Amino acid sequence: MAQRLLRQFRYGRTFAFLRRLTSSRSKIIRAVRKLYRDYGLENRPCVLCGGREFTLICEGDRYGFDLDKQICDHCGLVQTSPAVKKDFLDVFYRDHYRRLYTKRNDVDHARLVHEQRQKGERFLAYLETTSVAASLKDLAVIEMGCSSGGILDEFRTRCRSVQGCDLDIEAIRYGKEQLELDLEVAEFPTHLPDGPRLFILSHVLEHTHDPLASMKQIKTLMAAEDYLFIEVPGINMVAEGDYKHDLKSYFHLAHVCDFSEGTLRALAARAGYEVISCNETVTALLRPSSEAELPWQRSEKDTPENILRIDATRKGR
Ligand SMILES: [Zn+2]
Repeated sequence: MAQRLLRQFRYGRTFAFLRRLTSSRSKIIRAVRKLYRDYGLENRPCVLCGGREFTLICEGDRYGFDLDKQICDHCGLVQTSPAVKKDFLDVFYRDHYRRLYTKRNDVDHARLVHEQRQKGERFLAYLETTSVAASLKDLAVIEMGCSSGGILDEFRTRCRSVQGCDLDIEAIRYGKEQLELDLEVAEFPTHLPDGPRLFILSHVLEHTHDPLASMKQIKTLMAAEDYLFIEVPGINMVAEGDYKHDLKSYFHLAHVCDFSEGTLRALAARAGYEVISCNETVTALLRPSSEAELPWQRSEKDTPENILRIDATRKGR
């Protein structure tokens, strides 16, 4: 077996076993684990660069799921490898995701909207610092994976128009009825307003089975004058105190990839986007280029040593 980069007991298989056994969520964890084992895991090349060599980081996630997190030796992207299959992800999000997260079957949409509004406020503050600030009011905003629509509700007075889509039927119903937003049940928008437009992808890309394919698909919806705003949870923020400095809390069954500023920039280039702005949060503003792919390079920061650096910030090691 490959030597694990994070060598402490808490990052291994046995700890994961004990974690899921003693968890207050043990019943749902059992059901979800059976599901991904039934579908089978997928040995595939790196989703960013196609590389086949990885370094093993960790053998369990925050819930004790026995999935390996690995870093690609070629591009430095951290990802679940072997990966869970797309069919598994579809069933997981439909039937298990909310309950695993919240331990509840019913969803408190009012609370979700409150959190989404805070995100929306933060996104607007970020956009104010970019070159899009002056033209924000002229943009039609389209959010993919908008849930109940709190982010769009925050944007609606600041932009020309807002609309959204999500596969969560209940969330869409809530946003339409309670917030009177233009929402539809769909993965991608089925109708688009005239340009210029700002597409939003908030905490979606890390969940998608093939983020490069998703980015290319979104680009087909865009005109040269449009923007794509993306946020994903940045792995380097763990060193700054997110997830209480604990990479194991950050590693999550639902996260197919764990991006840094460097790997998000590389992914954007691979999908043919120019990066206007990107930070380690990871929050980014992109524009489609006329090229199918732009040159990219590995960031010097995306290394196994960086993973060890992040882990070294954890208290009480
Ligand atoms: Zn790679």
